[in-house]
Amino acid sequence: MSVRVGLGFDVHRLVEGRPCVLGGIVLPHPSGPLGHSDGDAVLHAIADALLGAAGLDDLGTLYSDKDPRWKGANSAELFADVVRRVRAAGWKPVNVDVVIATEGPRIAPQRAAMRARIAELVGLAADAVNVKGKSLEGLGALAGGTGVAVQAVCLVER
Ligand code: MG
Repeated sequence: MSVRVGLGFDVHRLVEGRPCVLGGIVLPHPSGPLGHSDGDAVLHAIADALLGAAGLDDLGTLYSDKDPRWKGANSAELFADVVRRVRAAGWKPVNVDVVIATEGPRIAPQRAAMRARIAELVGLAADAVNVKGKSLEGLGALAGGTGVAVQAVCLVER
C-alpha cells in the first residue's frame, strides 16, 4: 500500500452581506467570503490538499475563476467533483485536518457541524476530519481582520 500527503491553503476577504459559507455550512455571521464561487475557503483548501496528494494539479487549474460555469458556484458541488477525481485516480482519503484563521466568525460553536459536513462530502467518518479555529490575536494580519485564511492537510492511500 502507498500513502501520500497533500497540503492546501486558501484565503478570502470577508464582505458584509455575503452568506458566511465555510466548510460546506452557513455560519451565523454578518459577513462572508467574497469570491467567484461562494468563496468557501475551507472546502477550497481541503480540495487543494486532496488534489495535491493525488498529483492532480489544483483547484484553480481545474475550475478556473475565469470560467462563467463556476460563477456563484456552490463549492460543495465542485468539492464533490474533486473527491470523485481523486477516487477515480485510485486514491482513498484517510483523514483531513484543517486550521481556520480568522477574526470573523467563531469556529468552535460550528465545529461539529462543519466536521460532519466535510466528512460527508469526502466520504469519511467524522472522527477522521478535524477542524480548528484560530484567532489572529488582534494583529489584523488579514486585511484588518476582515479575512479568512485556511490551511488543510490530508492523507490518501491506495
Ligand atoms: Mg478560494
